[in-house]
Amino acid sequence: MELTVLGCGDAFGNGGRNNTSFLVSNGSERVLLDCGTSTLIRLKHEGIDLESISTIIITHFHGDHYGGIPFFLISSMFENPRKNPLTIIGPEGVAKRVYDLQEAMYAGTAAKTLEMDLTYHEYTEGVPLELDGKVIKAWKAEHSLPSFPHMIRLEWEGKVVAFSGDTSWTEHLIPLSDVSDLFICECNFLDQVSFGHLGYSELLEKRELFNAKQIWLTHMANEVIESPDISLNRLTDGLKITF
Ligand SMILES: [Zn+2]
Repeated sequence: MELTVLGCGDAFGNGGRNNTSFLVSNGSERVLLDCGTSTLIRLKHEGIDLESISTIIITHFHGDHYGGIPFFLISSMFENPRKNPLTIIGPEGVAKRVYDLQEAMYAGTAAKTLEMDLTYHEYTEGVPLELDGKVIKAWKAEHSLPSFPHMIRLEWEGKVVAFSGDTSWTEHLIPLSDVSDLFICECNFLDQVSFGHLGYSELLEKRELFNAKQIWLTHMANEVIESPDISLNRLTDGLKITF
């Protein structure tokens, strides 16, 4: 299994990094974890065929996490008409949110997405969603409430990728990352403790609570990207991790 970092930036483009998106591959099929606004550009840069992406899983309704879906869909409708089915998984209301965003960004195209072989699924905290050999589990995150924030765990091919989404500290991070191969955790700040995002000091304090083979930090502001004193692994755009 391989994970490619398409984007690990924060909402403000700190460090010149792309919006959040991680590509998980089993060698023949690919899954996107979040699809921030820059995702299609990054997929083109990596030479990825969109047909190989079967599933897009969204953590919450913020542009740096799902704003790339309309670009993905216009490419799949008008540039290279898609042959394979596509599944989009997200919080409650995901189908309407994507439809409305599509119409806002490319007026007149949303109705055409209804003609695609496109299936939506909503996940619910505490109810594993089983789809095509994958199990998706979700927990509520501590982040802007109108964005329906969640953290997600993808179990696929006997491997586990856990992703915090955007969140401040919550006990949910412990079961999320338990016995995971890869735990991608947001770390927006260094020492700041505030609602919506995590700080490095807090994360380091809780480090022993996480039972993950690898922990990687994402969604970092400049103060975290540039700090010489970070002992946890930091992601960079373009990084590939085999697990
Ligand atoms: Zn974000």
